[in-house]
Formats: sequence, C-alpha cells, structure tokens
Amino acid sequence: MSTYEHIFFDLDHTLWDFSANCAETLTDLYERHQLHRLDIPLPEFIIHYRQINDSMWDDLHKGKVTIEEVRNHRFANTFKLFGLAASHVPEGLDEQFISLCPTKSNVFPHTHVVLDYLSEKYVLHILTNGFRETQRTKLQSAKLDHYFEHVIHADESGYMKPDKRMFDYALKTAGIQTHQCIMIGDDLYADVLGAKNVGMDHVFVNRLGTKHTEILTYEIDCLSTLKTFL
Ligand SMILES: [Mg+2]
Repeated sequence: MSTYEHIFFDLDHTLWDFSANCAETLTDLYERHQLHRLDIPLPEFIIHYRQINDSMWDDLHKGKVTIEEVRNHRFANTFKLFGLAASHVPEGLDEQFISLCPTKSNVFPHTHVVLDYLSEKYVLHILTNGFRETQRTKLQSAKLDHYFEHVIHADESGYMKPDKRMFDYALKTAGIQTHQCIMIGDDLYADVLGAKNVGMDHVFVNRLGTKHTEILTYEIDCLSTLKTFL
C-alpha cells in the first residue's frame, strides 16, 4: 500500500492525447488552407509536423532552442520537407494551430475512470511544461479541470521540467514534501529524470515500449495499471 498523499500528473501525451488532438487540428488547418493545392499529402503532413515538433520540443527541454524558435520554425521546417520555401506557409498558421489544438478533447483510454478513482484517494495536481492559457483550455475541453487542485505551468514557475527548481516550486505550491508524492509522466527526460533529481518517486508511462536503462519506481503502458499500485 502506498503512502503517497499527492500525485503530480504531466498533461500532454500522458492524459491528453496530444498526437490525436494534433492530427485533428492539422487536418482542420489543412482543409482550411487547402494545402492539397501545394501537393502536400495530408498523412505525410501530419507525420512530418509531429516529428519536427517533437524533436524541437526535445531541444527546448534541453535548452538548445527557445519557444519562439519552435513556434517560428516548426511549420516552415515541415514545409521544407516537401520542397517548399517558408514563404508558402500560410500567414498565421502557427497562431491558428495554437488556438485550435487545445480545444480538442481526445484523452488516452481509461483517463476519466482512473482519475475518478485516484481523486478519491489522493490530491491530484498537474505539472506541465506547457503554458497557462493553453493548458487551461485543454483541461476544460477534455473535462479534466475539476480533478486537479493545482495546475503548475512553466510560465508560472519560470522553469521547465526536468529543472529541479520546477519541482521545488511545485512542492512549495502544494505545501508538501517529496516523500508525500509521486510524479506520473510519459517523458523519460522531463518527467522521470526531473522527479529523480529531487528524489521523488515516479511512474514512467511508456506506451510505445521505449527501450531505456533507467531504474524506475514504476513503469506502465496503460493508465488503468495505476489502480494496481495506487
Ligand atoms: Mg508529456
């Protein structure tokens, strides 16, 4: 039986199905801007955008690029893969993506059932590298907002996971100590190593079966497994 009292959840790719929501958004924008006219096939557009965005977010977590660089270049870099110059990117595409994507509501299987169960036993919080308005919209769109006592963002704390100061800020905000909580997230670097840095127990949500050599507190491939040990 665990002795945890609080749970910190990552949001994107852990509860909120970023890939499904991203694909829906890109499909909407593809149709709005009639990108088939540029000979961009929709499935490849989605795949390439996702690869570029993921890799730029990895670089962001490692401090290699800024969020402005991610936003300014992710569509241009995607278009480049189709042999198209940045000038072909429709005006305001990134802004449209940012405002539309958080309104999508796909979550991973068992999300609401597991949160119903956990919220009876623990105080739940979100610890996210996303930004305040975006994450608030996602939580509301997916009907998740009522589960969480604190939603701690990068722009509020001034730091991003895996920075120890982000976790320290979260603990201070919740008024708790490390041994009282566990971090649950899909990102081995930001969530798991971040938690390890402050000596916090953690759950790696490894849906894709990513190979690694880390010693973990728990590893799961489906949220429903949380009920077996929490
Ligand atoms: Mg995540």
